[in-house]
Amino acid sequence: MAKQAPIKRVRLPRDPADYGYPSQDIAALKAKALEVTRRLTARYGISPWSEKDPMSMLVDIILSHRTKDEQTAAAYANLLRLFGSWEMVRDAPTAEVQAAIANVNWPEVKAPRLQAIMRQITEERGSLNLDFLRQLTIEEAAAWLNRFEGVGPKTTACILLFSCQMPLLPVDVHVHRVASRLGLIGKKVTPEAAHLLLQALLPDDARSIYDFHKALLRHGQRVCIYDRPRCQQCPLTDLCDYYKTTVKPQKAVF
Ligand code: SF4
Repeated sequence: MAKQAPIKRVRLPRDPADYGYPSQDIAALKAKALEVTRRLTARYGISPWSEKDPMSMLVDIILSHRTKDEQTAAAYANLLRLFGSWEMVRDAPTAEVQAAIANVNWPEVKAPRLQAIMRQITEERGSLNLDFLRQLTIEEAAAWLNRFEGVGPKTTACILLFSCQMPLLPVDVHVHRVASRLGLIGKKVTPEAAHLLLQALLPDDARSIYDFHKALLRHGQRVCIYDRPRCQQCPLTDLCDYYKTTVKPQKAVF
């Protein structure tokens, strides 16, 4: 009989005022988040939902930590090409799994971590399948995933939003940077705290949250990049705190 892990509830955003915004700013911040999504979606297009099941998404997201999209996709394809199934990946010698994902960052950490999570899921559920998450409440599903070593709020939200279409916002480095420059979150808000803060500004439906995530992710990869944001190519200058306080004053001087 598979051992069932205890499920504890996690707190999800109910009221933006709970998270430190002055109440008079909440409506403006919500409107800004919607307008940012609208303009960036118009520029980059609507992203289709992923066709990956939750187990496959977990593998994909763990491989993707601090790794470019193309490298992640190559490592993911390599695992399936060499081993044929997640069960075979789970049972393979760790050195072989590590070699198959050698192109991502920290394969020596990710290979044993993936296998340990796969073994734990099999032990608890009786098979290597996470489709049951779709039947849980969002709080139950998030709490269940959060227990695994290396599975934090971002990975949890990615699996539940991308594969289960549950309304939970992932915040990666790009989403965090763009949101911070725009002034949707304060400068000192960490990516971990930003999950709940930003989600509190968005409509409580998976499509809206997915569109916001994809819009800021793409913008952070292509225009609002880390070193030197390409503000001259950006359709958000009139909405952006960083542009108004840092970029525009410098332009005025020179
Ligand atoms: S105006 Fe510049 S800093 Fe602001 S979101 Fe656009 S690229 Fe980023």
